[in-house]
Amino acid sequence: MCNYYNDEFYCMGTIIQQSIFHEKAKEIAEVVETEMKRIEKIMSFFLPDSDVSKINNAAGESEVKVDLDTLTVVKSAVHFSEITDGAFDITAGPLIKLWGIFTKNARVPSKEEIKEKLGLINYRDILIDEKTQTVMLLKPGQKIDLGAIAKGFAADRAIEIYRNYGVKSALINLGGNVKVLGKNNENKEWKIGIQDPFKIRGGYLGIVQLSDKSVVTSGGYERYLDNGNARYHHIFDPRSGYSSRSNLISATVIAKNSMAADALSTACFVLGLERSLDIIEAQEGVEAILLTDDKKVYVTNGIKESFMLT
Ligand code: AMP
Ligand code: MG
Repeated sequence: MCNYYNDEFYCMGTIIQQSIFHEKAKEIAEVVETEMKRIEKIMSFFLPDSDVSKINNAAGESEVKVDLDTLTVVKSAVHFSEITDGAFDITAGPLIKLWGIFTKNARVPSKEEIKEKLGLINYRDILIDEKTQTVMLLKPGQKIDLGAIAKGFAADRAIEIYRNYGVKSALINLGGNVKVLGKNNENKEWKIGIQDPFKIRGGYLGIVQLSDKSVVTSGGYERYLDNGNARYHHIFDPRSGYSSRSNLISATVIAKNSMAADALSTACFVLGLERSLDIIEAQEGVEAILLTDDKKVYVTNGIKESFMLT
């Protein structure tokens, strides 16, 4: 009988943890680590040779041939823009770079600078050609950033790899973007803690019990810039150009597909409680746990029985 093999490494700007229950767990963990690093290499906003950088550098000029995985993520991103009224928009790149939140260049830009960048944000300007496997941005200066969706894609890929090796029970956590395979070693549903933004990391708002699902939380409480009395976090409202100011403090989305959960949790955080509930309820098999600024927790119907407040 084997135990869980636990492994941690740094990738995609965060710590990635794996727990794998399998005789060849160590070998499988290494395969996943290599694959996560490959995904980072093609989807990073910062690495100069990534597909994303190539697309951004060729904006307004030419289409760029990309890896099939990049194409998949960009295509899904456009879909999530369409169903979230553009609250989720990977073309927020110029704005994200301008603010530089959580980089050494973080600053509050002027209204004029923000207005100028807002003119570049529009997911409809992403031209995708599946036949030639190319992506192009319509206008010069446009930039995509996959930071709100790529970890979800990576979690789905990791679980796919575990499955291919015949693993029946595993968990991967990409800095809070969690996905589990099967049940835990006691043949029970996994218990996943939802971070309480008012407590230090590891302090939970509640716990969900699930198997074969992903749990992803977005919030403005970990990556931000303080300026006098104002706090600006890393998730932007593509309509205003500023950090989103909805009535949510955090948005957790639960779905089979981690990429969907990742994109939707970011979008919900921007959109606020009412619109989020509408969007989530309209998605088959997708649930949410939404924490409002008056510290109330809203839970969608499908998850009520498996969620426990702590
Ligand atoms: P997440 O933690 O998944 O909510 O993603 C946050 C990251 O996504 C930020 O650090 C930005 O790189 C990027 N981002 C910020 N605002 C948006 C937005 N409205 N739509 C898509 N990506 C965004
Ligand atoms: Mg996200």
